[in-house]
Amino acid sequence: MKYADIERSVRAVLHELPGHVQLVAAAKTRTAGEVRAAIEAGVRIIGYNYVQEAEHIRQEITADVKWHMIGHLQRNKARKALELFDMIETLDSAKLARTIDQINTDTDRVTPILIEVNSGREEAKAGVFPEDAEALVREIAGMQRVRVMGLMTMGPFSDDPEDSRPYFRTTAEVYRDLGRLKLAGVEMRYLSMGMSDSYRVAIEEGANLVRIGTKLFGPRES
Ligand SMILES: *Cc1c(COP(=O)(O)O)cnc(C)c1O
Repeated sequence: MKYADIERSVRAVLHELPGHVQLVAAAKTRTAGEVRAAIEAGVRIIGYNYVQEAEHIRQEITADVKWHMIGHLQRNKARKALELFDMIETLDSAKLARTIDQINTDTDRVTPILIEVNSGREEAKAGVFPEDAEALVREIAGMQRVRVMGLMTMGPFSDDPEDSRPYFRTTAEVYRDLGRLKLAGVEMRYLSMGMSDSYRVAIEEGANLVRIGTKLFGPRES
């Protein structure tokens, strides 16, 4: 898409989002120029699915923005990921959390993470089942250099955003339940749900972080 069109789309989405909702620009496959145009129009958080792609684009961006990992993180890429990203939105195992905690002892960094919830209970999808989120949160709560700050979910793919509502609702319930526990070392501050087609439904169900790609940048070339 032309830079001017990206800027227009970003401004329209930012204008539409309620004040308490933050936008993550899901930037996979986009060029540094496209990402820069989005930043120019007000994007403050960039989401990437792959460590290598983020590394490449980050070198080209000088603006002071935040970087979120929104794809599945492999443990052997964790060290690099911790250098590149301000938040990992997709944590779904104690093992990965322990790896991050361990790496951070070298630098004394504390990494904010969201727990990815497999709200559709899909076989092939990453994330923990809703009923397993609490146990994982409790386990990570004891780690000094990993900080749980909320939940993230994708939900099953569908053409109709209304189909996503029950999955968003389930995740929001888990989020609120965990918040009520007031666990030491855990904050339930971010609920990351909703993409280009589904962010309105997600916000109605309580999302305060939405990850949007196509609606800002146009269709991805396959
Ligand atoms: C690509 C992606 C998005 C954004 O999807 P769009 O439909 O392009 O808005 C959101 N979340 C994740 C994890 C993604 O990979």
